Amino acid sequence: MALLQISEPGASPQPHQRKQAVGIDLGTTNSLVALVRSGSAEVLLDEDGRAMLPSVVHYGKDGSRLVGALASHLAVSDPLNTLSSAKRLLGRGMADIHSLGARLPYDFDHDDGGMPKFRTCQGAVSPIQVSAEILRTLSERAEKALGVMLDGAVITVPAYFDDAQRQATKDAATLAGIKVLRLLNEPTAAAIAYGLDRADEGIIAVYDLGGGTFDISVLKLTKGVFQVLATGGDSALGGDDFDRAIADWIGEQMGLDLVIDPAQQRQLLVSARAAKESLTTSESTLINVEDWQGQLTREQLALLIEPMIEQTLRACKRALRDARVDIQSVNDIVLVGGSTRTPLVNTRVSEFFGRAARVDLDPDSVVAFGAALQAEVLIGNQSGKERLLLDVIPLSLGIETMGGLIEKIIHRNTTIPVSKAQEFTTFKNGQTVMAIHVLQGERELAGDCRSLARFELRDIPPMVAGGAKIRVTYQVDADGLLSVSAREVVSKVESRIEVKPSYGLGENEITQMLKDSFSHARDDMAARALREQQVEADRLAEDLSAALDHDQHLLELSEAQCLRMAVAELVELRGHCSDHNTLAQQVKALSKASEGFAAKRMDSNIKSALAGHTLDEIDQD
Ligand code: ADP
Ligand code: MG
Repeated sequence: MALLQISEPGASPQPHQRKQAVGIDLGTTNSLVALVRSGSAEVLLDEDGRAMLPSVVHYGKDGSRLVGALASHLAVSDPLNTLSSAKRLLGRGMADIHSLGARLPYDFDHDDGGMPKFRTCQGAVSPIQVSAEILRTLSERAEKALGVMLDGAVITVPAYFDDAQRQATKDAATLAGIKVLRLLNEPTAAAIAYGLDRADEGIIAVYDLGGGTFDISVLKLTKGVFQVLATGGDSALGGDDFDRAIADWIGEQMGLDLVIDPAQQRQLLVSARAAKESLTTSESTLINVEDWQGQLTREQLALLIEPMIEQTLRACKRALRDARVDIQSVNDIVLVGGSTRTPLVNTRVSEFFGRAARVDLDPDSVVAFGAALQAEVLIGNQSGKERLLLDVIPLSLGIETMGGLIEKIIHRNTTIPVSKAQEFTTFKNGQTVMAIHVLQGERELAGDCRSLARFELRDIPPMVAGGAKIRVTYQVDADGLLSVSAREVVSKVESRIEVKPSYGLGENEITQMLKDSFSHARDDMAARALREQQVEADRLAEDLSAALDHDQHLLELSEAQCLRMAVAELVELRGHCSDHNTLAQQVKALSKASEGFAAKRMDSNIKSALAGHTLDEIDQD
């Protein structure tokens, strides 16, 4: 996600008092809230001393709403009104749901063209509403612990989330009355939690196996800044699938039909999960379902889940390939998510990477820790001591060219740090000053983009138009500082400007700017083509008039008049014509018509250069 923000030079972030911000890991299965107290991140507990809030909401017939453990206790007795896995449906359409929905024991409301809704005794409930209940519970927990209102939160999302899913997450936060400072990818949060941003450099693989999703991210660290080299995984693979495999196995052992009612399936899943989790610390466990009793061993568990672990390792291989990283160059493997507690997962992952995975931090809390640390920076309590996590440029950075067009130099979504240069030239004969206008945005016309800075390159040696070579370099460094320099290649005159990062451009503004660029794309292209032709027309008219003023004597009077008239017609057409094709034709016609004149001027220039010199002198040159 976009994290770099740039404002006009001089516009610095406001000074502020200490503000309260938290990090929220909104999980498919469990959610947590953490904050930074005296420099270190800690997870906040509920009244019963529990950190994890099961991401479950129960809608009662009496209009009550229960969130968390109280709700999950009702999963077996009242499955249709006990909603879990809402995160899997966030921002999804009906089409996406059919594959998932078949496995989710709920009734869905299909009328709505958008996101499917759960049908409950309190009416249709959207996944956004369910997520909002969870978020509200966590923010209330934090406000109770702090005794003050929250100023904002960083909420984590799987790296796989697309725009719609991210937007739905934000909507849920808004509904819960939470100000979202930023959405942060879960694996990136984990790397921050481990303080890996303090090292000099390295390659980090973050293996996150939660209840509902698997993410593998390959991060590269340079000068304390993360670059996301690749992400991969499976948005529908996690510990829940382990549970399902175990539940199916139990069902088989019990001799049950394949078709079982939701309540019974629930019960099997609950037992399966309990068995799986107890196998993390013991070799074998006893399962009791209805009047069936049996043993599940680690060996049997391995048989059931091995294919799924293999699936995650194949995704790891793909991600490394996408990142163009050898397995040997991975310096750190971070394990995230409750399912990495299963010993077999840790073993297989460590084997695959050929080194022991990091498990120093609690795999359940690590994402919330990172979110809290990032929230602390974003809310401004770190006063620049800590780096903002920068990963990509949210909006393209460009330069204004003739005719009010923008030439993009660094494209949107480029990972930083980055440096890109491009050469430009002068427009007029003898031009000694060039105005550099730094812009940000996706639109084609400079006026529609955001102006970041202006400066001038002076003392360019006078040359013919197009003779000077000006190299403009845009550099965004690890701290998000954009500096732009312009340098004339021959004379080496140089000028530069720095644009400071700030909190000036909100994510809403970025989103709006992107939306505008998409909705105006077609208009913009036409406008750009027209501007380009107008610039061409101006250039031709100006050059030709100057040449006629200077060298008209080379032509017959009638020829000269003809050309002057054609120039006047072009200027006239350029003034009112809004079709770039028509203008282009005229420009082409006039340049063709003036070819003879250009040839004569060239001859005459050569002759005058030769005049007064002997041939010998010329030979010696
Ligand atoms: P999510 O990010 O999807 O909310 P979590 O990271 O909270 O998920 O992980 C939840 C998953 O971790 C569940 O499938 C749960 O059964 C599993 N899990 C939790 N504790 C253990 C354990 N001790 N052993 C194995 N799996 C566990
Ligand atoms: Mg998770």
